[in-house]
Amino acid sequence: WPGCRHRTVTYQQLRQILLETPSSEKVEEWSRYYTSGPHLAGKNYSQAVWTKEKWEEFGVKSEIVSYDVYINYPVDHRLALLKKNEDEDGASSWQVSFEASLTEDVIDEDPTSDLNDRIPTFHGYSASGNVTAPVVYVNFGTFQDFEDLIQANISLAGKVAIARYGGIFRGLKVKRAQELGMLGVILYSDPGDDGENTEEKGVASYPDGPARQPSSVQRGSTQFLSVAPGDPTTPGYPSKPGVPRQPVDGAIPSIPSIPISYLDALPILKALNGFGPKAEDFNQWWTRNTGLHYKGVEYNIGPTPDDVVVNLYNQQEYVITPLWNVIGVINGTIPDEVIVVGNHRDAWIAGGSGDPNSGSAVINEVIRSFGEALRQGWKPLRTIVFASWDGEEYGLVGSTEWVEEYLPWINKANVAYLNVDVGTSGHHFKASASPLLDNVIYDATKSVLSPNQTIRGQTVYDVWHRRITTMGSGSDFTAFQDFAGVPSLDVGFGPGPGDAVYHYHSNYDSFHWMEKFGDRGFVHHRAMAQIMSLITAQVADLPLISFKANAYANALGKYVKTVEDKLNAALHPAKTLDAAALSDEAIFELRASHRETSKIFNDDRTNKVPSREALDFKKALERLHKAVFKLQEAALELDERAKELETRTHMHVPWWKWPKRLRLALEIRKVNNKYKYLERDFLYAEGLDSRPWFKHVVFAPGLWTGYAGAVFPGLVESIDTEDWMNAKRWVDIIEGRILTATQNLSAHR
Ligand code: GLU
Ligand code: CA
Ligand code: ZN
Ligand code: ZN
Repeated sequence: WPGCRHRTVTYQQLRQILLETPSSEKVEEWSRYYTSGPHLAGKNYSQAVWTKEKWEEFGVKSEIVSYDVYINYPVDHRLALLKKNEDEDGASSWQVSFEASLTEDVIDEDPTSDLNDRIPTFHGYSASGNVTAPVVYVNFGTFQDFEDLIQANISLAGKVAIARYGGIFRGLKVKRAQELGMLGVILYSDPGDDGENTEEKGVASYPDGPARQPSSVQRGSTQFLSVAPGDPTTPGYPSKPGVPRQPVDGAIPSIPSIPISYLDALPILKALNGFGPKAEDFNQWWTRNTGLHYKGVEYNIGPTPDDVVVNLYNQQEYVITPLWNVIGVINGTIPDEVIVVGNHRDAWIAGGSGDPNSGSAVINEVIRSFGEALRQGWKPLRTIVFASWDGEEYGLVGSTEWVEEYLPWINKANVAYLNVDVGTSGHHFKASASPLLDNVIYDATKSVLSPNQTIRGQTVYDVWHRRITTMGSGSDFTAFQDFAGVPSLDVGFGPGPGDAVYHYHSNYDSFHWMEKFGDRGFVHHRAMAQIMSLITAQVADLPLISFKANAYANALGKYVKTVEDKLNAALHPAKTLDAAALSDEAIFELRASHRETSKIFNDDRTNKVPSREALDFKKALERLHKAVFKLQEAALELDERAKELETRTHMHVPWWKWPKRLRLALEIRKVNNKYKYLERDFLYAEGLDSRPWFKHVVFAPGLWTGYAGAVFPGLVESIDTEDWMNAKRWVDIIEGRILTATQNLSAHR
C-alpha cells in the first residue's frame, strides 16, 4: 500500500533527500565536463556514452536510443559587401568594400572560444546557395514587419533581407522572406535588445564585463517549425533506419541564411544609410531598442541601389546520420503511470554552458539524488523515465522522434513530461506549463531557498513574479504537449534586470562565462536541481496524481475570454493602442499575427460594419462559455474527491483490514485515470488546419511566433483570416472536446 507509513522511505523523507543531495560542486563538475568540447547533434557519441555511464553509476538503468535523422553541417560560407566602380573610360568593375569575418573572437581567458574547437557559424536546416543582390532592412522580420514593408511599396522580391534577432522564432523570419520572393536572409544580434548592459552605455563587454561581446553570433535552427518539429523527412513517424522519407519542401528553407554579429552587421547597415525610408518613418515598433545609432547606423530600410549589393554564400552538407538519446528508467510499482523528465544534450558550440548544459548538469544531479533515495531503500510509486535528448537544436529532433516511436505507450501511460532546457542563464525563475501542473511548480518553488535573497529565508517562490506562461515551442516539450497530449512543463532561471547579457547560441555561452557572470558558485544550478527533483517527486510519488483539473478548466475560461477580445478587436477596430504601455511580449505577439496590428500603431481603418456571419459566429462562441462552465463543475468535484482520498491515505489501516485498503486503492486508481487522460481529451486527430501534426486544440506554438504559445490556435487563426465558417467549425470541435472531457471526468468508472 503506497500511502502507508511503513514505506522504508516516506514521501517526506524522499523530499529531504532530494533537497539535501544536490551540490554546487557536483553540478559544476558536470557542467565542466559537458562544456569542454563540441557536441553538435550526431557528433556527441562520447558524451552520450558518458551520460549513460554516469546515470548507471547513480543507480539508474540506462540505454542509448538512436535515430537516423536528416540534418546539415556547415562546409563553407561568405558574406561580403560589393560596390560597383565606373572607370573614367566607362568600364565597370565590382569591388569588395567589406568582407564579413563570420568568426567570433578568440578570448585568451575563455578556452572554449579557441578557434580549434569551433564550428563555423551557420543555421540549422539552412539552404545552400550563393546570391548577390541589394539588401533591405526588415526590422525583426515578423509577419507584420513584412506587411509594413509591402504597404510602403518597398521592393522585396529579388533582394536579400537583413533582420535583427528577437521576438519570434528565427526560422519564421526566413519563411516569410522566402514566401515574398527574397533571395537570402542575414540575421544579426542588435545590442539595443541588451537593456542596460551595452557598450554604448559605458558597460564593458565580455570577458571584461557583462555587456555583449561585439563579435558574438547567435546560431540556431531555421526550420519552419510551424509545419512540424522533428526530422523534416519523417513527419509523424520515427526516423528508424530504412524508413521511407518525405520531401522536405515547405518544412525547411529553400533560400540561404546566415547568422552574424553586430560587428559584421555594421558595414551592411551603414551601407543602407540614405536609401529608402528610415525605420522612424514607419512606427514606434521599428525604432524600439535599435542600438547602433551611436555607431552611425541610421536604420534606413533600403533597398540599397543596384550598385551596392551583398554576396551571401552558404554551403551546407546534408546527411542522414544517427543521433543518440540517452534514456534511463526507475521502475515504479504502478506499471502504467509514467513520468518523463528530459533535457537536451546537443549544443551548437563547444560550450553551451547555459544552453543546454546547465540543464544537463541539473538532470544529472536530479538523477544522482533519486539514486541516493533508491540506495536508502525508497520504493518508487510511478515509473520515472529520464531523457538526455540529442538534436534539439535542429528542431527538437531527438525528443520528437522518440515520442513518435513510443506514441501508443505514451498515450496509455505517460502522466506528465517535465522539461529543463536552459537551467540557468540568469537569475530570474521562469516557467511555462499546462495549467494542470501550475500548482506543482508553485509547491516546489516554495520549498527551495532562493540563491539570491534580500531577506533571509526567501524562497524561489517569494522572489518570483509567479506568472506561468502557456506552452509555445522552442524546446523538447513540444511533441509531448502538442502531439501526444501529455501535460508538460518547462522551467529554468533566465536573464532579467541586473543580469549579464546571455550569449545565447554563441561561443561565449561558455563555462568561463557561467563561472564569471552567469552563476557564480553554481548556486542557481543547485537550486534548479532541487526544484526539478521536487517537481518530479510530487507528480511521481504521491498516491493521488498531483494535478488540479480545476486550474485547467479555469484557464480554458480565460482563453475563451481572450478569443472574445480578439474577435471584438477584429470586428470593431479600436483606437490606436499605446505601444509604450505594452510589454515587449505583448507587442511581439500582436506583431507576429496576421491581421492584428496595423491598428496598434497607425490605425487608419474605418469602423466597418461586422458581417452577418461574424455576428453569428459571436453567438457560437458563447457556447464555449457554457461548455467550460460544465467542465469547471466536474473538475472541481474531481479535485475535491482527490483531496478526500488523499486524507484517507494518511489514516492508518492495519494490514488485516485489506478489503478496506483495496477499496481505497481502487478509488484512487479511478481518480488518477481521470487526471491522466484529461489533457489527452483535447487532442483532435485531424490536427490544426495548416499543420496537421499539431493535434492539441488548446495549445500550439503561434503560427508566426514559434516560441510564444497560441491558445485555441485553430479558432484564433480563423478569426485572423476572418474565415467565419471555419471559425464556427473550430467552435464545434473545441466544444466537442470540452464536453468529452467533462463526461470523462464525471463518469462513474
Ligand atoms: N531551442 C531551439 C531554438 O530555439 C529549438 C529549435 C526548434 O524549435 O526548431 O533554436
Ligand atoms: Ca519523425
Ligand atoms: Zn536548449
Ligand atoms: Zn538552443
